[in-house]
Amino acid sequence: MKYYILFGPPGAGKGTHAGAVAEKYNLKHLSTGELLRNEIAAGTELGKKAKSLIEAGSLVPDEVVEGIIESAFDTIRGVDGFLLDGFPRTIAQGEALDRILAKRGEKVDAVIAIMIPDEIVKERIAGRAKVEGRADDANEEVIQNRIRTYHELTEPLIAFYKEAGKYHEAVCYPGTIEENRAKVLALVDSIQ
Ligand code: AMP
Repeated sequence: MKYYILFGPPGAGKGTHAGAVAEKYNLKHLSTGELLRNEIAAGTELGKKAKSLIEAGSLVPDEVVEGIIESAFDTIRGVDGFLLDGFPRTIAQGEALDRILAKRGEKVDAVIAIMIPDEIVKERIAGRAKVEGRADDANEEVIQNRIRTYHELTEPLIAFYKEAGKYHEAVCYPGTIEENRAKVLALVDSIQ
C-alpha cells in the first residue's frame, strides 16, 4: 500500500486536487476535516465533541483524528493506498502516523505539498465560504485562528518530512485550477 500526505495551508486547494490524484493512483482520499464534518452532521458523540473546536478554528485532540485514521486503515479495502488530507497536522500526529504505519509494516511514501502565498490564503477561504458554506470559513477571527494554528503547529512538519527525504512541493499560485492540478499530478508522477 502507498501512503501519501497531501499537505498545505488552509485554502491551498488540497480538497480541489485530491480527487484527481486519488483517481489516477487508485488511492482512497481521507480528509479528516470532511470526516469530522460528517460526524457533526450525523450528530454522533464524536461530532458533538469536535463541533465547538472546529467552529473556533482550533484543532481537535490528536487521539480523535488518530482514531479516525486508524479505523479507516483497518476497514477500507480495494485501493492501492491512501491520500491523507488534513492529517497529520502536528509533529505529534506525524509521529503517531509513523507508529500506526510501523505496526502494519508500512511507512509514509511521500508528502505532496500544495503551496500558495500567505496573503492569498484568506482570499481563497473567503471565496470558498460563498460556495461551500462551511461555518469555519465565514468568520474572520476563526480564519485567523486557523492560519495561526497552521503556522505554529502544522508548518514544523515541513522540516520533519524534509529531514526524512519525503517532502515534495508544488507552488499552486498563480494559475487556473486546471493548470495547478496538472502541476500537482506532474509532481506525483515524478515521485513514483
Ligand atoms: P480542514 O477541512 O482540513 O480544513 O479541517 C477543518 C477543521 O477540522 C480544522 O480546522 C480542525 O478543527 C479539524 N481538523 C481536521 N483535521 C485535523 C487534524 N488532523 N487534527 C486536528 N484537527 C483537525
